[in-house]
Amino acid sequence: MFNSLSDHLTATFKNLRGKGRLSESDINSTIRDIRLALIDADVATPVVREFTGRVRERALGAEVSAALNPGQQVVKIVNEELIAILGGQTRELAMAKRPPTVIMLAGLQGSGKTTFAGKLARHLRDKGHFPVLVAADLQRPNAVTQLEVVAERAGVPCFAPERGNIGGHDSATTEGTQSYGDPVWVAQAGVGQAKVRQYDVVIVDTAGRLAVDENLMQQAADIRAAIEPDEVLFVIDAMIGQAAIETALAFQKGVDFTGVVLSKLDGDARGGAALSVASVTGRPIMFSSIGEQTKDIEVFHPDRMASRILDMGDVLTLIEQAEKAFDRKQAAEMARKFMDEEDFTFDDFLQQMSAIKKMGNLKSLMGMMPGMSGMKEQLANLDEREFDRVEAMVRSMTPFERTHPKQINGSRRARIAGGSGVSVSEVNQLLERFGQAQKMMRQLRRGGGMPGMPGMPG
Ligand code: GDP
Repeated sequence: MFNSLSDHLTATFKNLRGKGRLSESDINSTIRDIRLALIDADVATPVVREFTGRVRERALGAEVSAALNPGQQVVKIVNEELIAILGGQTRELAMAKRPPTVIMLAGLQGSGKTTFAGKLARHLRDKGHFPVLVAADLQRPNAVTQLEVVAERAGVPCFAPERGNIGGHDSATTEGTQSYGDPVWVAQAGVGQAKVRQYDVVIVDTAGRLAVDENLMQQAADIRAAIEPDEVLFVIDAMIGQAAIETALAFQKGVDFTGVVLSKLDGDARGGAALSVASVTGRPIMFSSIGEQTKDIEVFHPDRMASRILDMGDVLTLIEQAEKAFDRKQAAEMARKFMDEEDFTFDDFLQQMSAIKKMGNLKSLMGMMPGMSGMKEQLANLDEREFDRVEAMVRSMTPFERTHPKQINGSRRARIAGGSGVSVSEVNQLLERFGQAQKMMRQLRRGGGMPGMPGMPG
């Protein structure tokens, strides 16, 4: 996501490099390029107008800075204005003073609500909360089952209406006839149960339709009125382009939401429309959803997203992901091995592979590294299955072989190839690369510390 916007903007800034002074016409042509980049990325027209207006005004009035050259100064202004349209400060979830905190999800069908419910539950569970999911989407036949599956994956309970009672009607029930088919009732009962059972966060999934319609809005508004949520999160599929703005405005009018979740940010759509949602509705983007798995969730930080778009990297998020994946003990053990000159074995290798996998989608990880925009093509061609093949080969080795790779002779190689479904030449390649890596690590140790890391003891 945002690749082409990012490419466009970085190319624009390249033109400014090395200029001692920026003339008004330099600034005007830069603004023109920025405008085209934003329009091309699908950013909403009023947002483009406001953004470029402010950048132009600030660039023209910019004081001569001792620290930054004029080009860098423009980048700084664009960065700050980008942070502003993305909502400025990071906005945390508002937790209720008296639990449970009630979070309602709203959005179109297919926007990624149910998937996000699981991600949010897991995210909160990891932070020490006790969340529960409530299935108040009684519209789509499989929605309840899907939420139950999602809950199980996230390791949290799910309150769902009994089967057979799901009527699939709108919430047009009158007093006394409420049944499990009424989403308002289900939502209310779910929140009630969470209170009784002392869960501290309730996440209520609601029904979506393929397009905005009045019944849907009314139902969502009724649920909102009944459960009085602390947060109403509007989930929007970043791939739907300009329709995002219209949809967001309709939901704002119909239900009113307190925050936005951008889903499917892992896709390769242009994404600018989604970026405009915060600016157009005045509601902050709070999370992004970046894949189909439960772990694929990120807290949205406007400043980090701006850095990513401007290809300044997002090292902070990268570090957080790494901290989540690497167990401290494991990391200490690796460091000890390194210092004690023990050889790196295939067992260590497997451990590292699994940590990298836990960090999530490799392509999105690489995208967070500064200066990666020049390597997008290689990234696009990166085949994650390659990692699975390597893992399969290592798993086909015996414990002896994993710690004594040099002893893996021809017949052992053939057995490993057979066991992991690859060719012998692939096994040969792996062993060769592994031998080189071992050698390199030895050299690093002998050479006194890691290259480029001053201060490391030798
Ligand atoms: P709902 O109708 O709003 O509840 O949407 P779902 O949660 O069922 O999601 C619709 C489809 O989008 C499913 O196939 C999901 O697997 C997929 N999906 C949801 N979130 C993401 C995401 O962040 N990235 C990608 N690539 N797919 C997603």
